[in-house]
Amino acid sequence: MGESFVLVGGGLAAARAAETLRAEGFGGRLVLVGREGRHPYERPPLSKDYLAGKADAHSLLALDESWYAEHDVELRLHAPAVGIDTESHHVTLASGALLAYDRLLVATGSTPRALPVAGGELAGVLSLRTQADADHLAAAMQDLAAGSPAHDGAGRVVILGSGWIALEVAAVARARGLDVTVVGRSTVPLAGVLGRELGGFFLDVHRREGVRFVPDAEPVAVTGRDGRVDGVRLTTGEHLAADLVLVAIGAVPSTHLAEDAGLALDPTTGGIGVGPSLRASDPDVWAAGDVASVPSERYGRTLRIEHWARADDQGRHAARAMLGSTDPYTALPFFFTDQYELGMEYTGHVAAPDDAELVVSGSLDDGAASRAVVFWLEDDRVAAGMALNVRDRTPEVAALVERPGPVDRDALRGFVG
Ligand SMILES: Cc1cc2nc3c(=O)[nH]c(=O)nc-3n(C[C@H](O)[C@H](O)[C@H](O)COP(=O)(O)OP(=O)(O)OC[C@H]3O[C@@H](n4cnc5c(N)ncnc54)[C@H](O)[C@@H]3O)c2cc1C
Repeated sequence: MGESFVLVGGGLAAARAAETLRAEGFGGRLVLVGREGRHPYERPPLSKDYLAGKADAHSLLALDESWYAEHDVELRLHAPAVGIDTESHHVTLASGALLAYDRLLVATGSTPRALPVAGGELAGVLSLRTQADADHLAAAMQDLAAGSPAHDGAGRVVILGSGWIALEVAAVARARGLDVTVVGRSTVPLAGVLGRELGGFFLDVHRREGVRFVPDAEPVAVTGRDGRVDGVRLTTGEHLAADLVLVAIGAVPSTHLAEDAGLALDPTTGGIGVGPSLRASDPDVWAAGDVASVPSERYGRTLRIEHWARADDQGRHAARAMLGSTDPYTALPFFFTDQYELGMEYTGHVAAPDDAELVVSGSLDDGAASRAVVFWLEDDRVAAGMALNVRDRTPEVAALVERPGPVDRDALRGFVG
């Protein structure tokens, strides 16, 4: 028998690695180990169409369920890996089973940051990472929308956190007619990624749709009665009444396994440190997706980015590296969001968006119906570009981000004709 490759983590990065290994002709033993009971699936719809009941479970799958058997991939689902021994080349599963490997991919993703205050155990306090989480949240929102709250008026949803997932869920909850309050640590949502001005744009979009935003606030406690949530007390002293609380305060990379195995972590991002071709500190181990901290030549620093496109193309890249390629991973960061009728695609990376120069092409005045491309400039180069309701121009935005300076600002302003 040939070599054995083991892929730990049953998410998108692991699925793309499995697919690529077989497509590139790897004929040895291939085992995919996942903690969840489901075949690998894509998470973006969990806070959008799937949560809204507009997409079904099958549409989430990264690969058809039959693909694994058809391609002789052993699936170990509901099977958390609890140890990696890089000396003897074994992965230990929670069942005690040992899996021998010649080469190993760690693609364990990330985990929602836990609520740091009391009250997280109350019924009606939810988080969103898995399909099961989305099912719970959808059912809870449906109950509220159907009119079960013990008070007059619409069901009250309080969302702790003001990042992408928080805002996407806010949009779905508003579409269900629920009363939505978003509590953010910063003055505008998404300030760390987009800066104050564009964070203010997203704030405006949500306000127009009826979302209330509480800025500069954090929870002190989640309060309840008879084991069920009834509100959130904030650092501002305010007590927000709530029938449902979503904790959406970010995620942390799932690195326990790697750390216990002695793999080097990157202290700047907390992820598993890898070289340009995604190889970890052990020569027979690679990492990909949310958990991997990857050097970027374009930005001169390591990046650990929790987005779909990274998992998708790093899974493929790691597979080729496991087969011997030493090509560096050079893809630009890319992500997307859908909120109300707003479709957004963002390419590139800006470490300090409020220090960057902004160039706007198009108009930001029409809320979720705005059509614009926004560019962030650093060192007289385009560091990132964000297309709002401007479709199919991402390759051009990416080319601008790749291009050396100096920037032609007039050309950028005229980008949206
Ligand atoms: C609700 C939601 C909405 C999102 N929306 C967008 C979006 O609009 N656009 C975008 O670009 N990105 C979005 N993302 C981010 C994107 O889904 C992630 O970046 C992507 O899922 C990362 O893939 P991954 O394979 O690295 O990790 P994951 O998808 O987290 O998969 C890792 C898997 O490994 C398993 N695992 C962990 N530890 C072990 C272990 N010890 N043993 C076995 N298995 C283990 C986990 O249970 C998990 O199933 C969203 C994420 C969420 C949660």
